[in-house]
Amino acid sequence: NQQIILQNYVNGFPKESDMLLITSSAINLNLPEASNAVLLKNLYLSCDPYMRGRMSKSQGSYFDSFTPGSPIGGLGVAKVVDSTHSNFKKGDLVWGGIRWEEYSIINDPQILFKIEDTDVPLSYYTGILGMPGLTAYVGFYEICAPKKGEYVFVSAASGAVGQLVGQFAKLSGCYVVGSAGTKEKVDLLKNKFGFDEAFNYKEEQDLDAALKRYFPDGIDIYFENVGGKMLEAVLSNMRINGRISVCGMISQYNLEQGEGVHNLSQLIAKDVRMQGFLVSRYFHMLPKYFEMIMPLIKQGKICYIEDFAEGLESAPAALVGLFSGRNVGKQVVAVARE
Ligand code: NDP
Repeated sequence: NQQIILQNYVNGFPKESDMLLITSSAINLNLPEASNAVLLKNLYLSCDPYMRGRMSKSQGSYFDSFTPGSPIGGLGVAKVVDSTHSNFKKGDLVWGGIRWEEYSIINDPQILFKIEDTDVPLSYYTGILGMPGLTAYVGFYEICAPKKGEYVFVSAASGAVGQLVGQFAKLSGCYVVGSAGTKEKVDLLKNKFGFDEAFNYKEEQDLDAALKRYFPDGIDIYFENVGGKMLEAVLSNMRINGRISVCGMISQYNLEQGEGVHNLSQLIAKDVRMQGFLVSRYFHMLPKYFEMIMPLIKQGKICYIEDFAEGLESAPAALVGLFSGRNVGKQVVAVARE
């Protein structure tokens, strides 16, 4: 059974060499009868920014640290090879908590969902139909309560979450602008995802001036994915009664100590509500989200871009690439196609 293990806890930016591909002992393809487990053949692994927090020893992350020498844990899509758990049977397709290895035995699975609809690409269950999709839905509709005609700004807008937020904003009749780190991504935002405007934040000397250019009347809704200087600039461009959904702050994840944030007093001056959220507390909303998103996918009213890395061995580079913006769209690792 090939596995990707964490070699050592990480400080600063993660590197490929922080992880290692190993071949562990062969796996028995039949589970012991007394267990309450599933044996999975892993198909697609999801690379997600929150995994960086789990690579640190002591961290302010919301999940436990990985254990050096053990396989990386994450979300993914898999096929059930054997099951002694009453909710799953051999041949089922599932998504949820797996590990970075060819086969995983998950004892007493807590976060594992049976895939009912196979009429869509299976890899979508790492993205639009998985955790990032629900994140965009909760963060935009539940936290920001958008109204038609409002001005929306999304950072890291071409990524797994951002590309959906922009499309949800258009479906809600909003004006939406996105920022991203390359020309290719900016073009995608405008030409593929239907953002009204987009800009490359790396080419802007003055983020405040850039936002004033696109939002002369200010921002009603900010979907926050990056933090740092972008957040500071946004704070001074918010409108009265604006909402900020704090989804993530990827610019801070590799810093030993997070930067302070200026301009917070703008929240008072403008009656702005700023709210964080953790999607794992909203998994009960998956059925409601699926009811909305499935028809949109099938009617071609929403699109989703994925960036595939091929083979388990490509997973470390794919994960590290999130922090330099190498991924274009949702970063997936294809371990096996069936
Ligand atoms: P993406 O697919 O957007 O990948 C990460 C992207 O972030 C990169 O491609 C890069 O794009 C951008 N980025 C990397 N470093 C920086 C930086 N220093 N400054 C600005 N941008 C940077 O990731 P996701 O869509 O999966 O996640 C987006 C955000 O949502 C993350 O902050 C993540 O932690 C958060 N999140 C939060 C959840 C929750 O429950 N609250 C759940 C899921 C995600 P570019 O080229 O544009 O720089």
